[in-house]
Amino acid sequence: MNINKNYLNLEDSYLFSTIAKKVNYFIKENPDKDIIRLGIGDVTLPLAPVIVEAIKKAADEMGVQATFKGYGPEQGYEFLKEAIKKYYLTKSVNIDSDEIFISDGAKSDLGNILDIFGPDNTVLIPDPVYPVYVDTNVMAGRKIIFADANESNGFLPLPDSNIQCDIIYICSPNNPTGAVYSKEALKKWIDYAIKNDAVILYDAAYECFIKSQELPSSIFQIEGAKKCAIEFCSFSKTAGFTGTRCGYTVVPKALERQGASLHKFWLRRQTTKFNGVPYIVQRGAEAVFSELGQKQIKENIAYYSENAKIIADTMDKKGIWYTGGKHSPYIWLKCPNNMTSWDFFDYLLNNIAVVGTPGAGFGRNGEGYFRLTSFGNREKTIEAMNRFSKLF
Ligand code: PLP
Repeated sequence: MNINKNYLNLEDSYLFSTIAKKVNYFIKENPDKDIIRLGIGDVTLPLAPVIVEAIKKAADEMGVQATFKGYGPEQGYEFLKEAIKKYYLTKSVNIDSDEIFISDGAKSDLGNILDIFGPDNTVLIPDPVYPVYVDTNVMAGRKIIFADANESNGFLPLPDSNIQCDIIYICSPNNPTGAVYSKEALKKWIDYAIKNDAVILYDAAYECFIKSQELPSSIFQIEGAKKCAIEFCSFSKTAGFTGTRCGYTVVPKALERQGASLHKFWLRRQTTKFNGVPYIVQRGAEAVFSELGQKQIKENIAYYSENAKIIADTMDKKGIWYTGGKHSPYIWLKCPNNMTSWDFFDYLLNNIAVVGTPGAGFGRNGEGYFRLTSFGNREKTIEAMNRFSKLF
């Protein structure tokens, strides 16, 4: 037998284990210090009450013969797809419900989608970015090239007509930089993709943090996208589903390559390898789109956004360059005094007992930058920023 030797090419990720090691050592040496963690990329607020009620009701249905459900449709229940279709209409995007595929989260689909593409494609991935895009393509042995995101392009690289690629990843609002593409910039990517016969994999996991109609919260708001893009969304950050698990992927029927429908390929892939998301979870997700659900999740998003503002205001006061914060839960700041990402990590931990995430963990261009997140508790975020204000 042969192993998949591509796995030998994966780089070990020491980012979060190194952070944990350093923090544990600090706690051991300084048991009296109150550590504040602004490094987490996970939500902390509980599920909204209307979602919990819907999940409980669905669980009750499963215990009654007349309403019990076995295997559901692999692509998701119609009630949830209809709710998502209506949500897209509020963004002036018209998609058919059978273009929506319910998943157990964006991470799975971002990895699984690669099944429908040939192994010899060249992939273009922004640097820095969510590490899953790189690792899933390394596992498949694809050639990867990077689009440099840096201070000069505001961490929003644009297409380069001299570069040829087949699969393009775009994450907006971006993890880790919090930067958001404008409609004009996305149009450039769409034009490039159509011209080069490439497909854009658009990760919109943080779309709910966009507060301006002027900024795109779906790539399908831009003309031409249905001919070249697949969009990945998630209830994780929108409604606190990181532990409940539900997301959705939109594959337009107009998306064809080499005479084949990628929508049909994905449908075939999902019906063969996936058996759907639990009915109970899908009922919970449906509740997100009810009037009360929208009100309750927006309260949670507003809480995180206010935390982000508190962090961003502190950076403004200190004159520190950053992206993100306004339409994102992430603040991506330039480490002061030319410190490296890890130097700055140690500096914050040792001087003010605040934990963040070194930018170097997200790609080569992340060196010298640092990610703070707004998913923490309000009082702790304020306290962390009070401590930060007294530095340098
Ligand atoms: N995409 C990005 C950019 C993320 O940051 C994350 C999670 O942190 C995901 C996708 C994964 O989302 P999910 O929880 O839906 O799998």
